[in-house]
Amino acid sequence: MAVERNQAYWLQKLTTLNIEGRAFIAGRYVDAAAGEQFDCHSPRDGRLLTAVQSCQQADADIAVAAAKTAFDSGVWSETSPKYRKKVMLRFADLMAQHQEELALLESLDMGKPVLEAESIDIKESIASIRWHAEAIDKVFDEVCPTSPDVLGMVTREPLGVIAAIVPWNYPLLMACWKLGPALATGNSVIVKPSEKSPLTMIRVAALATEAGLPDGVLNVLPGFGHTVGQALALHMDVEGLAFTGSTATGKRLLQFAGESNMKRAFMECGGKSPNIVFADAPNLDQLAVHVAESIFHNQGEVCTAASRLLIDASIKTDFVKKVVAAAAEMQPGDPLDDDAFMGAIVDDIQLANIQRMVAMALDEGAELRCGGEQVRADTGGYYFAPTIFDNVDNRMKIAQQEVFGPVLTVIGFDTEEEAIAIANDTIYGLAAGVWTTDLGRAHRVAKKVRAGSMWVNTWDGGDMTTPFGGFKQSGNGRDKSLHAMEKYTELKSVWINLDY
Ligand code: NAD
Repeated sequence: MAVERNQAYWLQKLTTLNIEGRAFIAGRYVDAAAGEQFDCHSPRDGRLLTAVQSCQQADADIAVAAAKTAFDSGVWSETSPKYRKKVMLRFADLMAQHQEELALLESLDMGKPVLEAESIDIKESIASIRWHAEAIDKVFDEVCPTSPDVLGMVTREPLGVIAAIVPWNYPLLMACWKLGPALATGNSVIVKPSEKSPLTMIRVAALATEAGLPDGVLNVLPGFGHTVGQALALHMDVEGLAFTGSTATGKRLLQFAGESNMKRAFMECGGKSPNIVFADAPNLDQLAVHVAESIFHNQGEVCTAASRLLIDASIKTDFVKKVVAAAAEMQPGDPLDDDAFMGAIVDDIQLANIQRMVAMALDEGAELRCGGEQVRADTGGYYFAPTIFDNVDNRMKIAQQEVFGPVLTVIGFDTEEEAIAIANDTIYGLAAGVWTTDLGRAHRVAKKVRAGSMWVNTWDGGDMTTPFGGFKQSGNGRDKSLHAMEKYTELKSVWINLDY
C-alpha cells in the first residue's frame, strides 16, 4: 500500500534528518578558517536548523587553490568525456536515492512546499546533472574547410576554476544548472550558496565525492553577506564566474571581473515579466487559474514570476474577478502539508521587503483586490497572502521593480501595439507570455517582446533542451541546453601546416 506523504510523514522524517553546515573543500567537510558561523533558521516556524560556517577570503583562497590543483593535475579536466559522464550519472543517481531527504531539507531551509521541492527543485537538479552528462560524449569539435595542405581545427577547452554564486529561491536547482555543464566540460567548481538557503548544496557535495568526483573538483563555500562571494569574484585564479541573483549584484560582479583578471562572467538576473492576455484567449476560466499560479507558485519568489498581468481592457473587470477567486484557493500553508499551494517567505528580511513594496503600491494609488498582509504569524514563520493590485499604471514603481513575492499587478491595454509597448517598457527582459487564439498575433507578439523566454498559451514552458536567460538587465549568457556549455569553455583555433 502506498504511504500517504502527509505532514505527519515529513515530521517523522525530520526527526532523523542530519543537517550539515560546514564548508566542503577538497573532498571533505571543514570549518571556516576564522571559525565564524551564522544561524540558519527555517522560515516555516522560525526554528533553528543548524549553525552554518561563514567562509571568508582565507577560505576562498584555500578552495580556489584546491580547485586549481585538481584542474591542473588533469584528474578531471583531462579525462575522457565518457568517464566524466559515468561519474556524473552516478552523482545524479545518488541524488535520486536521497530525493526525499533533499526535498525536506530544501523545504525547511527555503520555505517552499516539500512536494514542490521534490517534483521541481530536486527532480530538475538531477535532470540537469544527467542531461549534461549524457550530452558530453556527443558534442564534437570542428574541422575547418581548408585547402588540402592545411588542417584547421576549432576545439573547446574548459576554462579552469569556476565560481558559481547562486540565489536562495531555487537553491540546489540554480547550482545544478551551472554544475551540469561546468563539470561535464571538465572544469573545477566552487559553489557559493546564498546564506538564506545553503543546506542542500552543502549536502550534495558529499554525494558527488561518493560518486567518484575527484577531490577539489567540487567545493562549497557558504558565507554570510557578500564577503566570500566578493573574494571569489575578485580572485585572480578564478577563470569563470557564473551568477544567478539580483540585477544589482550582477552589475557589481561584472565590475569585479573587470577589476581583476577579466574572468568570463555570466549573469542571470531579475525580471518583471509580462503575461499578456488578449480577449480571444482560449478558456478564460482555466486561464485565470494559470495566471494566478504563474505568479503565486513558489510564493512568487521566482525570477520568471508572471508579475505583470497585461489584460485586454474589454475583459479586464470580469477576468480580474476570476483571478482573485483563483488566488483565494492558493493561500500559504505549512510547507510540510501536502495541501499547501504556497509555503513560507524565505526570511523576515524578504517578508519586510514585500510589506514595504505593498505599502509603496498603495501610496502610488494601485487598488488592492486581495491579500496585502502577513498571515499565519502565530506559527513563528513568515507567510504572506496572495496579493493582487488592479488598475496599475506601468510607470508606477510597483510595475517596474521586482517584488520577489506573491504580488500581482494588473495593467489594462486597448491594442496589440500598446500591449507590446507596455511589455517592453521595463529594464528587464527575462520572460513573457501571450495568450491568444490568433496565430498571426501570437507570432507578432512573440517576435516583438524583448525577452529570453517567450511562452505562447502557456507559462514557464521548456525543458533541458531549451536555453534559459535574459535580454537587457535580466542578464547575459544562458543556463540549460548545449548553449550552456559555451559559458564554461574557451574556443581554440589550431592551424596545422601539412606541407612543412
Ligand atoms: P542576490 O543578488 O542578493 O544574491 C545572490 C547571490 O549573490 C547570493 O549567494 C549572495 O550571497 C551573493 N552576493 C550578494 N552580494 C554579493 C557581492 N557583492 N559579491 C558577491 N556575491 C554577492 O539575489 P537573491 O536575493 O539571492 O536572489 C533573488 C534574485 O535572483 C532575484 O532578483 C531573482 O530574479 C534572481 N534570480 C534570477 C534567476 C535567473 O535565472 N535569471 C533565477 C533565480 C533568481
